[in-house]
Amino acid sequence: MGEALLDSYELYNGVKIPKLGLGVFLMKDEEELVEAVKTAVEVGYRHFDTAKIYENEQYVARGLKEAGIPRKDVFITSKVWNYDQGYEQTKIAFQESLDKLETDYLDLYLIHWAAPKFVETWKAMIELYEAGKIHAIGVSNFQIHHLEELKNQGLMQPMINQIETHPEFPQNELHEYMKANGILHEAWGPLGQGKSELLKSPVLKDIGQKYFKTPAQVILRWHLERGEVVIPKSVHADRIKENSELFDFSLTEEDMEEIAGLNTETRYGSDPDDQERIKETSIRPKDA
Ligand code: NAD
Repeated sequence: MGEALLDSYELYNGVKIPKLGLGVFLMKDEEELVEAVKTAVEVGYRHFDTAKIYENEQYVARGLKEAGIPRKDVFITSKVWNYDQGYEQTKIAFQESLDKLETDYLDLYLIHWAAPKFVETWKAMIELYEAGKIHAIGVSNFQIHHLEELKNQGLMQPMINQIETHPEFPQNELHEYMKANGILHEAWGPLGQGKSELLKSPVLKDIGQKYFKTPAQVILRWHLERGEVVIPKSVHADRIKENSELFDFSLTEEDMEEIAGLNTETRYGSDPDDQERIKETSIRPKDA
């Protein structure tokens, strides 16, 4: 296992987060997920990104157990879903995530989207953090105006913001804002979620050829050059391995400029300011 695979960024509270993690969104098949987690651990991943709404926290726990990795050696992230937001409910949802993940603390807990009660949610998370139950707290899909609202309330700043980011949607303005405010940028959908034609881009192919790397590896390296955490998802052993082989090359300024030219401001996921969607997903379904 290459030592560089374990490289991490330091959050403003001193907690270290591995630069690379395995994302597990849409992995609903228990056996497939358990195998993916075991493969990832074997390859050297030490960071896993799940969420209550993915309904697979318990499978991540099983995968880690079967991989035989001690809890202290892995970094686990989960997220509070929109209909669980608000002060009391966040604490309940947090405990449910701990139970499913079979752990008594989380390395990182995020507000999944800026739902109407996000300020109250954040207050509960600060308390859980101060009680030592979460080592780092952050947000996801927050725009500048959401981050400013937390700041204006005089509350602790998130340590991280996990947002859709890829060469077609680099989020340059938000990226610069976060950099200036000491909030680490974590990229979700780092490869364009498989919805994009990015992986076929001749620009990325040409750059990759220089380093004997695939377009996926070039994209992931681009994120790392920008100082972002990456959590690519795959259930295939060969891709899980491919997505980890990022630490034996780097991109030149010229490469970075060429990749910057791929920006089309295209979002593949939801818009955090889509109030209709936020409202709908903030209503607890009867069977939840
Ligand atoms: P992604 O950009 O990681 O794309 C995943 C898809 O890319 C795979 O399904 C596969 O089709 C393809 N792929 C993966 N590796 C490849 C390779 N080496 N070569 C070719 N194709 C490859 O998209 P994602 O899964 O949506 O995002 C990653 C993680 O981010 C998720 O699993 C989840 O943990 C997190 N996420 C968070 C949010 C949020 O709102 N906070 C939203 C979406 C995803």
